Amino acid sequence: MSDCIFCKIVNGDIPSTKVYENEYVYAFRDLEPVAPTHVLIIPKEHIQSLDYMNESNIELLGKLMLAAKEIARFEGLSENGYRVVNNNGLMGGQTVNHFHLHLVGGRSMQWPPG
Ligand code: AMP
Repeated sequence: MSDCIFCKIVNGDIPSTKVYENEYVYAFRDLEPVAPTHVLIIPKEHIQSLDYMNESNIELLGKLMLAAKEIARFEGLSENGYRVVNNNGLMGGQTVNHFHLHLVGGRSMQWPPG
């Protein structure tokens, strides 16, 4: 999608700090981190949100989750734990309409979220 900032990041038109990439997935550091580690994990394909996914995306969703686990390991988070978040739609707090997982770690997380 030409006006999507995350598509522009995947294409290299907007700079990002890449932490991981494979054929389907791209991951980069969040510009405004909320924890010592804050990585965004996105599909290279433009999909607006979880709500726009269906059975055809099951494998992609698995790849995104496993990428989160791998990145957590690279970042040294596996032992003490970490959080993976998906904000979906307006009331879910989604501000960029390209599906993404937030991997956050390096501090204790609170529950319930805000
Ligand atoms: P969400 O609010 O769940 O849609 O998350 C969007 C995230 O994208 C926020 O945490 C922003 O800080 C982050 N973000 C927006 N633009 C950029 C960018 N150009 N590079 C890195 N992170 C970004």
